[in-house]
Amino acid sequence: MRAACGRHHPSGLPDAGRGWHERRAAGGAVTHDVIVLGAGPAGVNAALAAAEAGLKVVLFDQQAQAGGQVWRAPLPGLHMPPSPELASGDALRARLGGTAVECRFGRTIWSVGGHFRVDAVGSAGNDSAQAPRLVAATGAHERIVPFPGWTLPGVIGLAAATVLLKSQAVLPGRRVVIAGCGPLLAAVAAGILKGGGSIAAIVDLAGPGDWLRRLPTLATQPRLLARGAGWALKIGAARIPVHFRHGVRGAEGSEALERVRLAPVDASGAFVAGREITLEADALCVGHGLVPGAEIPRLFRVAQAFDRRRGGFVPELDGDGRTSLDGLYACGDGAGIRGVLVAEATGRLAGLACARDAGALSADAFAQAAAAPRNAIAQARPFSDAMADSMALRPAQVAAIPDHTVVCRCEDITRGQIDAAFEDGARDLNQLKHFTRCGMGPCQGRFCGDVAGEILAARVGSREAVGTFTARPPLRPVPLADLMGSFDYADIPIPAPAPL
Ligand SMILES: Cc1cc2nc3c(=O)[nH]c(=O)nc-3n(C[C@H](O)[C@H](O)[C@H](O)COP(=O)(O)OP(=O)(O)OC[C@H]3O[C@@H](n4cnc5c(N)ncnc54)[C@H](O)[C@@H]3O)c2cc1C
Repeated sequence: MRAACGRHHPSGLPDAGRGWHERRAAGGAVTHDVIVLGAGPAGVNAALAAAEAGLKVVLFDQQAQAGGQVWRAPLPGLHMPPSPELASGDALRARLGGTAVECRFGRTIWSVGGHFRVDAVGSAGNDSAQAPRLVAATGAHERIVPFPGWTLPGVIGLAAATVLLKSQAVLPGRRVVIAGCGPLLAAVAAGILKGGGSIAAIVDLAGPGDWLRRLPTLATQPRLLARGAGWALKIGAARIPVHFRHGVRGAEGSEALERVRLAPVDASGAFVAGREITLEADALCVGHGLVPGAEIPRLFRVAQAFDRRRGGFVPELDGDGRTSLDGLYACGDGAGIRGVLVAEATGRLAGLACARDAGALSADAFAQAAAAPRNAIAQARPFSDAMADSMALRPAQVAAIPDHTVVCRCEDITRGQIDAAFEDGARDLNQLKHFTRCGMGPCQGRFCGDVAGEILAARVGSREAVGTFTARPPLRPVPLADLMGSFDYADIPIPAPAPL
């Protein structure tokens, strides 16, 4: 279902906010044929496909190297033991090296304006680019369904733990509980064991039967299934206790995490009567799936739809990654959670679509080149759907968040305050923001928006009615001093004195 907007706003933005963006873009020069935002598997493939067709492409990422989340490069100078993820990342980086794609890494995109002017900040200062086409390949961020104590030091995201392990070779703690749902549970456990860490337990919302039922589907991707089976064997060999069909009731400690309390859940994720378990731990890695990072399409008010399997609100796309706005394309997890195989293929398709729309590929050449990624998407679909389902938000889990538990950690807004805002008349996420400041902090609602939307939707009746927070620059927190650069008072143009 459409939450906003119709098709085609050729000048770049629908009416709301146009003036500001138009002024920013005025006088800006077109620097490239295509800008690609995000150098993960999706963005790199988009950039390569467009560049191979002869377009002038610039690729931005806040990380120092390409690879995105799944194939994140280790920090410079850090030697990591070999792994399939590192090898795939190295292969991706090698494919990119020596091509015509202009890589601008170590830059955080904070604004995307009308006519696709992009502004970034990085250690080298301010940077910008402008092009008639823009590919948003900004990936996903993780979801944690709040529970008492989740903001204690020592509690980190499951996906965040993969970043620590992969790029920094840092263990999350001395004795770790791993909790939540989906494939990252086993990936993180295997990473901690490989790093010599100690795991108190793995706590899975799913039951063994859920995983067994998925096996035939997972077998459609034998290489990935073998990777998962390898993790399971390592976990079994290390005799790590696995508490299936359990969730985290609370994280406790005076200054930092000391204990994790677990309780049994049913298939819907709701807590049920049964024995509680308390585990001593100094780190809890917990995650409940991923949410598409679709802020850039949202900034342009393109048509979007709510899709629980895909992680939340996603831009409506044609089969090749075109959004409802001319010149704006989306791919990878930022367009809906589907994992790395689909990210690569949708990235390539979006890059080819750019080339086709720019007239750099004939209809025949496009059809020929698009066949392989289209096949790859079709083949990966059962696997990626099964993985996405294992991580989809469980409404019963959200219903169980206690009143006093913080949901928006930037602004300290509790579940009780969100319910009270509904009683006071808040009926969508933006009204909730006005009533409570929920989603108004540095993360701009990226981390609380999905859960806050679900809480409100349970009262209002639908996620579509509740919608999303309005996206606005800055897309990421940026220090004002960085934006100012070397600009000072002497640079302010003084108008000529008015004639007397
Ligand atoms: C933290 C995290 C860890 C994950 N770990 C794994 C894992 O170990 N294994 C696995 O199979 N899947 C993992 N996933 C899922 C994984 O994201 C996808 O399977 C796959 O990487 C999606 O590829 P993508 O190209 O769409 O996005 P990504 O790989 O996420 O790439 C997006 C890129 O965009 C960049 N970006 C985003 N916003 C901005 C901005 N404003 N300015 C500049 N750059 C920006 C990011 O730095 C990133 O490099 C993880 C997801 C997250 C969020």
